[in-house]
Amino acid sequence: MDATRSSSPWLLPRFWNTLSKETQPLETTEPGVVRMYHCGPTVYQRPTIGNWRSFLLADLLRRLLEWGGWDVVQVMNITDVGHFRENEGGDKMAHEADALGESPWEVAERVTTWFLEDMDRLRMKRPHHLPRATDYIPSMVELVERLLKSGHAYEVEEQVYFSVSAFKEYGVLSGNKVEDLIAGARVEVDERKRHPADFALWKTDPHHVMKWETTLGKDGFPGWHLECSAMALSLLGETLDIHTGGEDLVFPHHECEIAQSEAATGKLYCRHWLHNRFLMVDGGKMGKSLGNAYTPEDVIRKGYTSRELRFALLRGHYRQPLNFTWEGMEDARGFLSRLDRFQEEIVRLAETEDKGRGIVFPIRTAFIEALENDLDVPAALTVLMDGIRTWRATSLGGEGAREVLSFLGEVDDVLGIGPELQEEDREIDRLVSKRERARKRGDWTEADRIREILKSQGIEVEDTPHGPQWRSDSGGGSPR
Ligand SMILES: [Zn+2]
Repeated sequence: MDATRSSSPWLLPRFWNTLSKETQPLETTEPGVVRMYHCGPTVYQRPTIGNWRSFLLADLLRRLLEWGGWDVVQVMNITDVGHFRENEGGDKMAHEADALGESPWEVAERVTTWFLEDMDRLRMKRPHHLPRATDYIPSMVELVERLLKSGHAYEVEEQVYFSVSAFKEYGVLSGNKVEDLIAGARVEVDERKRHPADFALWKTDPHHVMKWETTLGKDGFPGWHLECSAMALSLLGETLDIHTGGEDLVFPHHECEIAQSEAATGKLYCRHWLHNRFLMVDGGKMGKSLGNAYTPEDVIRKGYTSRELRFALLRGHYRQPLNFTWEGMEDARGFLSRLDRFQEEIVRLAETEDKGRGIVFPIRTAFIEALENDLDVPAALTVLMDGIRTWRATSLGGEGAREVLSFLGEVDDVLGIGPELQEEDREIDRLVSKRERARKRGDWTEADRIREILKSQGIEVEDTPHGPQWRSDSGGGSPR
């Protein structure tokens, strides 16, 4: 993918795979390259902190893999059409637009802007692709046509359905069996379907506001499941390495994605499926009707920083339910201020005589092992806190202290919880510490490459006995 890739991955993670129901080492189609797809928001209402738990899992994966030397290509979709609420009859977008007296396009535009704002505030790296479903209508139509041709789909009264009976692997992800789905079908069954578990690929409705004229006919629009397959296949190729989403998406959404993608391509759709558990609030369900479906904006209005919220949402293991409470936010604040105080102490010690060299390495190794083990963030944080206690009880100075600082920089690369800095300074600091790590492992090519990148931005790096310092043409410089 990227011809300039200079190193091969050194971090070798294992993930619990919802598909195989076991923990597996990460394997990718192209060595060293990870192609990931994440189900993004349906932009009808501002995403809640529950949604953000899922989006931040995607960010954690990206940061961890990039830190570990992988090349990552990341796609997160924006669903701006076709997300149905089976029980309430209708498209989430259309429903919200009706309620507000606006057009679905206006709603989508506004909520997408909020989503991107919150993404930046929560320090999520922007995915390489953020496709909007409405920009991929031709790919969706093409996929439907392929499925019609291969006999996996059929058309009745201008609706196109996927025939689950024509795909014998249906149920492979969720464990649902087609027979049980008939018995369990509570929702009124659409009589046009050949089988109650068949799902809509393409719908036609002249009253729908968001509709397209395509080779499938007039007034058509896609089914939600189809959108993700079309965008993933268009942007990442026929076999993805990782697909993530909330646990509620396993069935039917991801099951349907697998069915329609594999039926069309004849290839494995995705190697690793990762699903995060729900976010609870005060020990119970989160919901609009319960008045506790908080958005990041709500949390920030209460006086917390987006950094504190990011940490509170990332600190649990993604496969455990996470309980959001206001005391938990206080606790996140306490944790981060302890980390900041420690970092300030170490910055001071870095100016003193060399002491405690090498002391960081066993902790760093344990930190890496925790994250390699199915992204065990709680274990990694325990390692970090134990490390801080150990380092406090040891004499540290000079190079020993700089090693600890460099490790804290790596913790920030992965978790994104470092002190608030100007966004530009943060990026420069990140590059400077990346270059420093390359120098330490003797990778001069990489170190020079990064120096050149910095130079092109008007940043000069000077290697001093106290570690690297940087200066910018415009007058800025290292905080330390
Ligand atoms: Zn999706």
